[in-house]
Amino acid sequence: MSFHSITYNEKYRFATLHNYGCTFRCAICSYKLRSGANGTPGLSYPKPKRFLTVPEMKKALQSVSVDTVYFMGGEPTCSKELPEMLEFIKNEIGAATFLGHTNGSQLPIPNLDGANVGIKAWDEQVHLDYTGRPKELIYQNFEAAVCSGMRMKANIVYIPGYVDTDQIESLAEWIASIDVNIPFHIMGYIPVPGQTYSRPTDEQMTAVVKACRKHLKNVAKSHLTSEEALDLTARDDRFAVRMIA
Ligand code: SF4
Repeated sequence: MSFHSITYNEKYRFATLHNYGCTFRCAICSYKLRSGANGTPGLSYPKPKRFLTVPEMKKALQSVSVDTVYFMGGEPTCSKELPEMLEFIKNEIGAATFLGHTNGSQLPIPNLDGANVGIKAWDEQVHLDYTGRPKELIYQNFEAAVCSGMRMKANIVYIPGYVDTDQIESLAEWIASIDVNIPFHIMGYIPVPGQTYSRPTDEQMTAVVKACRKHLKNVAKSHLTSEEALDLTARDDRFAVRMIA
């Protein structure tokens, strides 16, 4: 799809381009927290009424001072304008470019400095069931992006009974085989409408982090409630942004 809005954080000098659309069909998509949709797998918030043109996006970015431009989704790599915007941001604005959230299905990309890949599962069958796609391409792309010199991060949602500790530790071990310094973030599952899985307990979160720290040097966690996830500005001023397009 395409980008529908741009936000700006003056304090930290970054802008974010927000895309609508995704190539995966995750039943557990966290965007359902906001939309409340519980039937269709995948991205499920209403389609924006209009999308931004490339000249509109360029003008908005030129109107502010930025060190970094992030791209978010859905899945930002499914925007056909992404390559032109990356080229513009690197060469005209002179800012760093980063995919703030991606499913990893299209990496590496020219003029992109880094990406935070949400890897869904280690188990092949669970990955297929969760996303509708095999895991092989995502894992290959992640490794290729690291080898290309991109600054990579990974994250996973811990869903007890579905994406369990053993899968998350296996993923951490695999990431460590590429580079033990790659940041790894474990997010406790936040129940979405229409799904029966439960949030992990505090003890389960502590145990999974401990297991991953045996392999990786930089493991973090978040364990938000639904209410906290829907009001991130109250927890972190990086979410305090204003709309510039
Ligand atoms: S990859 Fe992310 S945005 Fe796309 S459907 Fe899955 S959870 Fe939602």
